[in-house]
Amino acid sequence: MEPRLPGLKAMTRCEQYHQGVRRPDRRARLAEKNGWTARVLGVPVEACDACGQIWLRMLVAKRLDEILAQLLASGAESAETHWDSADTA
Ligand SMILES: [Zn+2]
Repeated sequence: MEPRLPGLKAMTRCEQYHQGVRRPDRRARLAEKNGWTARVLGVPVEACDACGQIWLRMLVAKRLDEILAQLLASGAESAETHWDSADTA
């Protein structure tokens, strides 16, 4: 067992028993509200190479929530953007 200390080493292990390793990846994330959907492509995540579970860093998750809320508020039934273009807004 690794010590539960903050730091890179503790962050790179999946918590499942298979001891997969988290690697940086890009994924689409989406949200739905009242039948409307919003999608953000290319969101930077960390993905387990063994089980496919993904994690979002705190700042990424926060920003993603903002972007999805903006998309949902745009009035389009189905809105989509890319993380890289949305991040500069
Ligand atoms: Zn895993």
